[in-house]
Amino acid sequence: MTDLKRLLDDSRPLELLRRDKEEGALSHAYALFGDDPVAMEWILRRMAEIIVCKKGGCGECPACLALNGGVHPDVRFYEGALTVKDVEELIEDSAKFSVEGGVKIYAVFALDKTGAPAQNKLLKTVEEPPEGVIFLFGVTKPSAVAETLKSRCKKLNYNGVEQGRLQEALRAEYGDGPAVRSAAAYAGGSISRALALAADESFAVEADNVVALLGAMKKSSDVPGETARAAQDKEHVKRRLDVMEIVLDMVGKYKRGLTDGGGGIAGIAEDFNYAALADAEYLVNDCRKRLESNCAPSAVSDTLLFGILEVKYKCRR
Ligand SMILES: [Zn+2]
Repeated sequence: MTDLKRLLDDSRPLELLRRDKEEGALSHAYALFGDDPVAMEWILRRMAEIIVCKKGGCGECPACLALNGGVHPDVRFYEGALTVKDVEELIEDSAKFSVEGGVKIYAVFALDKTGAPAQNKLLKTVEEPPEGVIFLFGVTKPSAVAETLKSRCKKLNYNGVEQGRLQEALRAEYGDGPAVRSAAAYAGGSISRALALAADESFAVEADNVVALLGAMKKSSDVPGETARAAQDKEHVKRRLDVMEIVLDMVGKYKRGLTDGGGGIAGIAEDFNYAALADAEYLVNDCRKRLESNCAPSAVSDTLLFGILEVKYKCRR
């Protein structure tokens, strides 16, 4: 197991699952909620391991080895969206006896990507599953999953890894280069984001630019200077919006006491109260939509800059 995966082993969802197993009270369906798809997939895989292994997920027995090799006959993982046909096959398969004589597990990493028709088809089986069948669902977007389906599951919440522990594990796994340092500083507690950032050589520079920009914008005469500095092609404006979204998220996490405010985040946090942060996030999404509907990138860039100015002004009043 890698250092990063090890971080998740004492996470709340896995603790709750272990307790259910020890008490002989496993639910027939679990829904894991969170905003970190990579960590959630790892947790769901680990949940399956804990359930099928007689020793609670030893990683070495035939059941664990088969599961980790992707060949356990009674465990199925679904990576993407389920089609109606997938669900029909799943239902048919769930009615058969288990090969190993234990439980049968169907783990869907991103149930929210599955469309309504397939969800509806799945509902009846989740409501009245065959004996010994356990469903494991990952949900990053709760509004995209039918209430009726969610209500049939035992709910588990994943809230991320503590930042200091994530930084330590990243260094152990990837060394201590500049990309890893900025990944650790900007990931918050998200493993998905940390991995994306650690592989992104230019992120640190762009994040510094965005932090400087958010701090510097004070009056409308600042806009032309920033416009001149910003690259004006579509890819660069999009990149700036993506990085700004991460920076704003980090400001919010710092305000809630979840991160240490490194990377200059603490310095700009007082310019943004919670209402201003929400406005700024809305602004970033709005600019992204404009860019996608083929507004001129330079115009989108100006909208962004004036928008930030307005958000900060409203915040000061
Ligand atoms: Zn085992």
